[in-house]
Amino acid sequence: MSSDTATAVGWQSGSRSDEVPGISIQVDDLSKWYGEVRAVDGISFTVREGEVFGLLGHNGAGKTTTIRMLTGRARPTGGRALVCGHDAAQARERVKPLINLVFEEQNLYERLNARENLRLFAELYDAPLGRVDELLEAVRLTDAADRKVKTYSSGMKQRLLVARALINKPRVLFLDEPTRGLDPASAREIRGMVREQARQGATVFLTTHYMEEADELCDRVAFLSSGRIVALDTPRELKLRYGERSVVVVLDSREEERLRLDDPADAALLERWMTEGRVLTVHSQEGTLEDVFVNLAGRSL
Ligand code: ATP
Repeated sequence: MSSDTATAVGWQSGSRSDEVPGISIQVDDLSKWYGEVRAVDGISFTVREGEVFGLLGHNGAGKTTTIRMLTGRARPTGGRALVCGHDAAQARERVKPLINLVFEEQNLYERLNARENLRLFAELYDAPLGRVDELLEAVRLTDAADRKVKTYSSGMKQRLLVARALINKPRVLFLDEPTRGLDPASAREIRGMVREQARQGATVFLTTHYMEEADELCDRVAFLSSGRIVALDTPRELKLRYGERSVVVVLDSREEERLRLDDPADAALLERWMTEGRVLTVHSQEGTLEDVFVNLAGRSL
């Protein structure tokens, strides 16, 4: 078959692959309107293979709607989203085996045990049953594998949801608020799993409210505000560009003062104290992603 013919057939079946090497997700001018509400309002970005990419924003910013379009669960009003080169809306069946997701509203079969839950999904995805034990081990649920899921803590349930999402070894893993409502130890475990997936080469696309989580996990983050991307970069670059630059000075009197380097009066004060020999120590204070978001979106998450 000539390449022209192959392209033509692909178009007809709506499953043409535009895969660009090294790019897992490509979003072009994507939007979703619900009547007058512009839930997502013309966003564009790409996510590289093996990248952990975070979408951040306050309630109603459009995070879930974006993730729903990327996973073929909502049709865009305009623009397109390509996942592994396939249009997520037009070629849903092509995309499905390549991805998996952990969504907040997802349910487990509570009357079944963890092993049975995973077996059901292994069958659904034609995955070898050996994968079930492998995953139970990976999410540390082997000992509890034969207990009904309804007896699990929320952290255990979330670990099982992550295991379920890994059953088909997805190339792209979507996580909508993966640690919401979990205690710090459970959240840490989930973050460890995310990192492990990325280490093994999967692309991870996650939404979160937690700035520290995004900072720790993500290679790049996009800030979404009222359906639009207001900034997109590495956490480090965003903090350097938009975060507050300040220092904490300990004086000979043992008093501690926080000074903003961008404020000329504070900068002059620091210089004077230095000249007078009153400064014992100076600690630089890096801006946080939270600061960045406040500066960009006008209010804290
Ligand atoms: P949260 O952090 O609260 O989950 P979010 O950033 O995920 O918020 P979305 O759930 O994507 O935000 O919602 C974006 C906007 O679109 C909101 O104003 C929401 O009310 C609206 N919206 C979302 N889904 C629908 C729907 N099915 N019908 C009408 N409006 C909707």
